[in-house]
Amino acid sequence: MRLITVSLSRPVTLIWLFLYCLTLVFSAHWLWLFSYQQLQTSNQQQLDRFGYHLDSQLGQFSYIPQLLSGQSIIIKALLTPHNSAQLDLTNRHLETINQIIGASDTYLLDNIGTTIAASNWSKKSTFIGNNFAFRPYFQTAKAGSSGRHFALGSTSGKRGYYFSFPIKYAAEVIGVIVVKMDLSLIEKDWAAKKQRFLVTDPNNIIFISSDPDWLFKSLSPLTSQTHQQVLNSRRYLDLDIKSLAITGDINKASTLLKVANKYYLSLIKTGNDKQWKIRVFVPITSILFNISMLILFITLFYMLLYLVAVIVKQHKHRREEQILATAKAKQQLEFTVMQRTSALQAEILEREKAESALRATQKELIQSAKLAVLGQLSASISHELNNPLSAIRSYAENAVLFLNKNKLNDVENNLIRITSLTVRMAKISAQLKSFARKSDGELQIVSLQPIILAAHELLKPQLKANQTDLLLHLPNKPIKVKADAIQLEQIIVNLLSNALQSMQNSQHKLIEIKLSIESKHAFIKVLDSGTGIQEKYLSMLFEPFFTTKETGLGLGLSISQQIIQNMQGTLSATNRQSGGAEFTISLPLLPITDNENNRGNQ
Ligand code: ADP
Repeated sequence: MRLITVSLSRPVTLIWLFLYCLTLVFSAHWLWLFSYQQLQTSNQQQLDRFGYHLDSQLGQFSYIPQLLSGQSIIIKALLTPHNSAQLDLTNRHLETINQIIGASDTYLLDNIGTTIAASNWSKKSTFIGNNFAFRPYFQTAKAGSSGRHFALGSTSGKRGYYFSFPIKYAAEVIGVIVVKMDLSLIEKDWAAKKQRFLVTDPNNIIFISSDPDWLFKSLSPLTSQTHQQVLNSRRYLDLDIKSLAITGDINKASTLLKVANKYYLSLIKTGNDKQWKIRVFVPITSILFNISMLILFITLFYMLLYLVAVIVKQHKHRREEQILATAKAKQQLEFTVMQRTSALQAEILEREKAESALRATQKELIQSAKLAVLGQLSASISHELNNPLSAIRSYAENAVLFLNKNKLNDVENNLIRITSLTVRMAKISAQLKSFARKSDGELQIVSLQPIILAAHELLKPQLKANQTDLLLHLPNKPIKVKADAIQLEQIIVNLLSNALQSMQNSQHKLIEIKLSIESKHAFIKVLDSGTGIQEKYLSMLFEPFFTTKETGLGLGLSISQQIIQNMQGTLSATNRQSGGAEFTISLPLLPITDNENNRGNQ
């Protein structure tokens, strides 16, 4: 198959591109807004849940220091700090309480911030003896209020959330009780999520994160002053706080932020601890994926549209080409037909010329054949003329003698005989003249009987010379056909002459001419009792120059057949069962004379 490359026109392609871009922009924008909204709503709920979880986790410890602060065992320990038995009791008590509440550590500070009893008293890393006067939670409690503070444990290095409460005796703060909670417990349940749940301090430093990599990083770079403040507070001990270098407004309640080449939807919520900010960072990859899918879908859809348009155009183009090809082929055909017609006309002209030349030649041939027949006849004709001539001579000589003897009656008789003989001679000469004359080839309505009789008359001397009988079977009523009388006579003479020649060595010499009509045709049959035709020659008989005779021309039958065909008739030959040949001329009867002819045959 031929490959046709068809593309859409430039304006159509441009419109297509414009529509494609328009659809892309609008649908991508819509999808972005929709997905963003969805992401925001669903993650706001998640953030609320995270905040609630955080508050509830922290909340369970918030009143415990206050409860402990009133216990006499705690107060006693502070009042008798050197009573080791008392301290030992207090240590075990704190250990039990710590275990029950599930806190990280529970410990008791004296009024200068030194740990005198702790739940981890038996551990290597026990707080006992450590001074935490620098911690804000101590300072707040010392001032008489409950304190809360987040920091890295100076002994454990673990993140802790500290709840403190002053222990008062006689309206004086004699010590501080502290419960420390391990913050890593909060993150545990949120670590598997694809969003990042964070809690940041007032300096935007992350101290709770579901992603450990983001822990202790600041959202934005810290100023050197802030950095120093952080170091001084010892909240993060000596940790070097690095920045995540986030691009975007980190304080906006809901916004898009870029972190290390990735975009996140950022949502903020303030927790119970007003200094904190609870945040969620949601990767927007799902939105981008959805938009990519949409772009792909729209692109495919438009490509499909384009393809369909190209196919339709290609189809149209092919159809146009086909129509053009058909028109071309038609034109070509018409041209060829024209060429052929003119060639044909030239051929017809040529043929007409050839035919007229052939007709002329035929005429010449007919004439030659006629003369040939005349030549054959000449011997018997001259015999036929010589006989009356010598009779005339003797009648004339006798007439002279009778005149001398004055026998006038005898003279008259002789003269009458002479006259009748000359009439006969004139008749013979007229027949010869008529036979020798040229035909003009024009077909005319003729009666067949006189033609057959004329041929017979012409052949009579030869028949006589050959001692041959000729029987005529002619219907009384004239049978008329359209023919050239001269040519038809010549054919019959020809057939009779052939018949005579075939019977030269026959003992019984008989020729019959039968004229009849059958199924709208007239039939002239010439039958002889001669040698007949050899079977092998039957098919060649009518070929020009076919002859079995030494001096024959072989033209008689072929010319006769052509003449008969010109008259719309046929000439055929066959052998008779009784011996001899049978030649049949068939000629169509005239339609108007049909009835007449039928009657004539009866
Ligand atoms: P030609 O008489 O010069 O041979 P024709 O065309 O008249 O040419 O005849 C062709 C041949 O047909 C003859 O040579 C002869 O063999 C055969 N033929 C024609 N008429 C007869 C007949 N009546 N009987 C037998 N053979 C015939």
